[in-house]
Amino acid sequence: MAQPNSLSPADQQRLDALHERLCEASLRNVGYPTNQAFDYSELFRFLEFSINNVGDPFHRTNYRLNTMEFEREVLADFARFTHAPEGEWWGYVTSGGTEGNMYGLYVARELYPDGICYFSEDTHYSVAKVLRLQHTRNIMIKSQPDGQMDYTDLRETLRIHRDVPPILFANIGTTMKGAVDDLAKIREILEDLAIGNAYIHADAALSGMILPFVDAPQPWNFAHGADSISISGHKMLGAPVPCGVVLARKAYVDRIARSIEYIGALDTTIAGSRSAFSPLLLWHRLRTLGEEGLRDMVQTCLGHAEYAVQRFFAHGIEAWRHPNSVTVVFPKPPPSMMEKWIIAPRKNIGHLIVMPHVTRATIDAFVADFAAALKLCPLRHP
Ligand SMILES: *Cc1c(COP(=O)(O)O)cnc(C)c1O
Repeated sequence: MAQPNSLSPADQQRLDALHERLCEASLRNVGYPTNQAFDYSELFRFLEFSINNVGDPFHRTNYRLNTMEFEREVLADFARFTHAPEGEWWGYVTSGGTEGNMYGLYVARELYPDGICYFSEDTHYSVAKVLRLQHTRNIMIKSQPDGQMDYTDLRETLRIHRDVPPILFANIGTTMKGAVDDLAKIREILEDLAIGNAYIHADAALSGMILPFVDAPQPWNFAHGADSISISGHKMLGAPVPCGVVLARKAYVDRIARSIEYIGALDTTIAGSRSAFSPLLLWHRLRTLGEEGLRDMVQTCLGHAEYAVQRFFAHGIEAWRHPNSVTVVFPKPPPSMMEKWIIAPRKNIGHLIVMPHVTRATIDAFVADFAAALKLCPLRHP
């Protein structure tokens, strides 16, 4: 479509400079879990329309420029990956992992208005904000050094508040260490304490697209007792805009649905207008890779992550990773490393997140730089 006005040469140059900067930075992005290896050029022509998936993807809507048919197919794939109970799940494509977590916590709070939410110290920073936003009582549980929830602390804390339904916020792959809170263990604790009314939300932002494709996954999905699951689309799968998927048990969702005449739709989602482009992106990714392709992509990343651990060891740097995790944890690197590489530090650790665009050559270069930087500036802690 023709543009009514065009950019000035100066503004055009600004865009060119931005493009160059992004080309250069994307390959050195090794510390954030965003896959940069994708090609969506087949979908560029859909940027010509004001498409919008306002409302519930499973109901009709008055706004016809939508991609809900594709959205439903994406959701069905994710329902399979997460072992959602057949015919008894519901979900939608979100703006990202945070909105999915907010949705899960919203459903939980509507079910148990007086419930207390329990989440570990290693939980993503956005969760405390969501809990504050919706006035949900909450208690932070200690973490183990490896990033998992401290189950002894959880048990003791639940015991004290046995009269109030718990809302358990489980991390399926923590942001810093890739730790998976054990849903089987959490269920066992609830049973031991004879707590019948409980809700479990699984925050599977990154690992929700890893665990379906490994041979021995930790207990993490609907089959292991989750009531809702949030997964990011722009992390493991990779997308040029933030997006994600949330799924929940249908019986719970039906209790919070409201019909809105203006859009001629059921208002079950948190956002009103929703991207109709991101469901297309996810659909394209799932269809082009196929389940075998997804498995290959995940297995390659896990193999590269293990390779990275060994390379660090070869240089005397103590790195480690959880089983089924692409997150390689190491001591916080010297400042010179942070200028060249895009790394997310926290306290005394840093991590490499081995996404599909992180090759063995990138890992070799990263570890060599790290070792060289250590020679000039040794770590204070062993
Ligand atoms: C990234 C992340 C989130 C937030 O997801 P967004 O898609 O960035 O909104 C939530 N939880 C965990 C564990 C994450 O790693």
